[in-house]
Amino acid sequence: MENSKKLRGWLDEMALPHPLVIAGPCSAETEKQVLQIAHDLKDTDVNFYRAGIWKPRTRPGNFEGVGAIGLRWLQQVKKETGLKTATEVANRTHVELALEHDVDLLWIGARSTVSPFIVQEIADALKGTDKIVLVKNPVNPDLSLWLGAVERLHSADIEKLGVIHRGFSTYEKTKYRNIPEWQLAIELQTRFPDLPLINDPSHITGKRDMIFDVSQTALDLNFDGLMIETHCDPEKAWSDAAQQVTPKRLVQIMEDLKIRKETDEEAEYKNDLNNLRAQIDIIDNQLIDILGKRMQVSDGIGLLKKQRNVAVLQTNRWNAILGKMILEGEAKGLSEEFVLKMFKAIHQESINHQEKIINS
Ligand code: PEP
Ligand code: MN
Repeated sequence: MENSKKLRGWLDEMALPHPLVIAGPCSAETEKQVLQIAHDLKDTDVNFYRAGIWKPRTRPGNFEGVGAIGLRWLQQVKKETGLKTATEVANRTHVELALEHDVDLLWIGARSTVSPFIVQEIADALKGTDKIVLVKNPVNPDLSLWLGAVERLHSADIEKLGVIHRGFSTYEKTKYRNIPEWQLAIELQTRFPDLPLINDPSHITGKRDMIFDVSQTALDLNFDGLMIETHCDPEKAWSDAAQQVTPKRLVQIMEDLKIRKETDEEAEYKNDLNNLRAQIDIIDNQLIDILGKRMQVSDGIGLLKKQRNVAVLQTNRWNAILGKMILEGEAKGLSEEFVLKMFKAIHQESINHQEKIINS
């Protein structure tokens, strides 16, 4: 895939005074629900109205979407509000139905992006379309798989392309529903600066009260837009109830977000600075997280030592760790002095933890 300006032509043409906004319910539930939310979003910053018609649920037996009838409701939305429409497609039939009903933007969901077979089927069905097609990241943090899907669409002569960052699955429970792994999105942006990059804070956080912060981080990292699930009565939503916001809250979020435009040199400098600072903030959080995990492991060792009645300080082991880390640090451009200081501090904290356990 060449890195041409053409990739973002559709977005530039819109000449938006703010980031692109895609909003609407996780799922179309009833005609009334679909239309009511659309009317509430009509005179806001929202550019595309989203609603899931076929819902890919992790376990069967949950609400799996209203199906094709929902596409007629989306047509009605366009007629009554003028909003452009968007939905997820996951196979050839979905594509054909969505095109028949004149959906303006189609996206490939995270569970489909993982499968090159499905992506190819969708690309073939969409061949040459002038609709906008966005690719959500695969559920696993695999940049090649994500880019591979974009390439399959690009090879099918689809020119209005973009990607949606919705976070990644983990075995471990974290504060996120899907951890952002921002560095992946940053790498993608570095390699394809002209590929529009949209953030989906709803599926990253899984919780409505975290949506603002994740959206702000995304904008600080120069994302081009946001996809935010919006519902008139979020708590009663048939899917993803915990993460949807009301239209009123969405408007407030858009108002409060600091949107940093690249206009003159000064703004560009500030933009770069904020971008780098946002990256530092992410890494600092990771540092604290990883140090917390290290201390937990250390607690486990403390427990073993207590049972075996051995001393907390094992000098040989400690010297071996230090020697190894000084070499590793050197390879990463860290001075011996810094590595020593840092590991002494970590070691001291670790000893404090283990002392507490042994003496408890
Ligand atoms: C959605 O957007 O409602 C959805 C199912 O998202 P994802 O593919 O990111 O899970
Ligand atoms: Mn959803």
